[in-house]
Amino acid sequence: MKKIIPLLLFLLSTVVSAQEISSSEQKMIDFLRSHEKEQIDFLEQTVNINSGTMNPEGVKEVGMLYKKELDALGFKTRWISLPDSLNRGGHLFAEMEGGKGPVILLIGHLDTVFEKDHEFRTFSRDGDIGTGPAVNDMKGGNAMIIYALKALHAAGELKNKSIIVAFTGDEEKPGQPLSVSRHDLVEAGKKADIALGFETASGMDYATVARRGSSGWSLEVKGKQAHSSGIFSESTGAGAIFETARILNSFYTEVKGEELLSFNPGIILGGTEVSYDPTQSKGTAFGKTNVVAGDVVVHGGLRFISEEQKENARSKMKEIVKNNLPQTSATIAFTDSYPAMKPTEGNMALLETLDEVSRDLGYGEVKAYDPGKRGAADISFIAQYVDGLDGLGVMGSGAHSPTETIDLSTFIPLTERAALLIHRLSNNNKK
Ligand SMILES: [Zn+2]
Repeated sequence: MKKIIPLLLFLLSTVVSAQEISSSEQKMIDFLRSHEKEQIDFLEQTVNINSGTMNPEGVKEVGMLYKKELDALGFKTRWISLPDSLNRGGHLFAEMEGGKGPVILLIGHLDTVFEKDHEFRTFSRDGDIGTGPAVNDMKGGNAMIIYALKALHAAGELKNKSIIVAFTGDEEKPGQPLSVSRHDLVEAGKKADIALGFETASGMDYATVARRGSSGWSLEVKGKQAHSSGIFSESTGAGAIFETARILNSFYTEVKGEELLSFNPGIILGGTEVSYDPTQSKGTAFGKTNVVAGDVVVHGGLRFISEEQKENARSKMKEIVKNNLPQTSATIAFTDSYPAMKPTEGNMALLETLDEVSRDLGYGEVKAYDPGKRGAADISFIAQYVDGLDGLGVMGSGAHSPTETIDLSTFIPLTERAALLIHRLSNNNKK
C-alpha cells in the first residue's frame, strides 16, 4: 500500500494537470514541439548576423528578420529610426489590436555586446548546447517571442489579443539621452497593462519580479593647498584627502545597511592637481607628500530597489557632504540611468500565473529571483507604469562572453510556457 499511494497521487496529479491544459493550449504545444528544428534554425540565422549595438546596419538586418515574421502574423510593424546624434540602429515595434483583454507588451532587444570586429561570430551546436554571440542575451529570447506568437496564431488565438512587441536596438548601450532612445518603449509601457521581458532566464524555476535600478554620483572635494607642516592648523585645515576620507567613511557607516541598497566608489583621484575623463573612465593625479592636497574627485555608482530608497540615500549622502572639516568644501552630483523595478503585487500576480502554467505543463514551480543578483534592463524603464515579469527568456551560460551558450533542451519547453502565459494573461485578466 505504501508504494501504491504515491503512484496514485502521481497519476491523479497528471490527470488534474492534463485537464488544466485547454484544447487551444494543446494546439500551441503541438505546434511548438513540431517546429523545434525550425525555431533553432531561426535562432541560428539571427545569431549569424552581427548586431553589436554600434553596428546599426546589423541591428536593422536582424530587426528585418523579425519584422517579416511579425508581418506574416498580422502585426502592424514599424521601424523606428533614431536621430543621427544618438548613433544607434533604431527599434522594431509591432502591434496587434483587437482583443478585449489587457494589452500585453513583449520585450526583446536586437543588439548584442559583440561588435563587428569581434571574433565570436557564428552559431555552433554540440548536442543540446548551442554556442554563439547573443544566443541567450538575447536572440534566444527574441526567437521565443516570435515562436510563442506563431503558436498562438496556429491555435487561432492570436487575432483576439492586444499585443505590442518591442525590439529595442540599443539595450546593451542605450543611446543618449534616454528620453529619446527610450521614448517609444515608455509610450508602449504606458499603453500596456502587462509587460513581459524575455531576457535570460535564471533557471527553469525562477522569474524576475524586481530589478534594482542603477545610477551614478560624483564627488568633488576642495582643500587649501599649503605646506604639509601646517596641516591641522586653523589657516590650513584638513586638506581635501582627509575630508574625502571622512565623507566616504560616513557613507559606509551611515548610509550602508538597507536591503538592496548598495553604492560603490569606483575611482578616486586626489592631490594638488587632478583630472578625470568619465567617457574614458580614466584620469591623472599629481601630488607631493609635503603638500596638503587641494583636490579630490570620486566617481561611483548606486543601486536601489525603489525611487524612495534612492532619494533617501541621496539625501543622506548630501547631508554628510555638507558637514565639512576645517578649510575644506565638497559637492556631490547625481545622475540617473536605470530606474528600479519594484516587486509589486501586480508583478507577483503575474508570477503566480506563470507558476500555474509551468505546473500544468509539468515543468514545476516558478519562484521570484533575488533582485540583488540581477542588473537593470529595458523593462526597468516602464516598470512604474505596468505590471511586469522578466527573465522569461532562454537558459544558458556566459552571457556577454565569447563562451555564451544556450541550453537547447529547455528552448521549446520555455517557449511553450511563454505561449501559454501570454494566452492565459490575455484571457484571465480582462479589464
Ligand atoms: Zn539583454
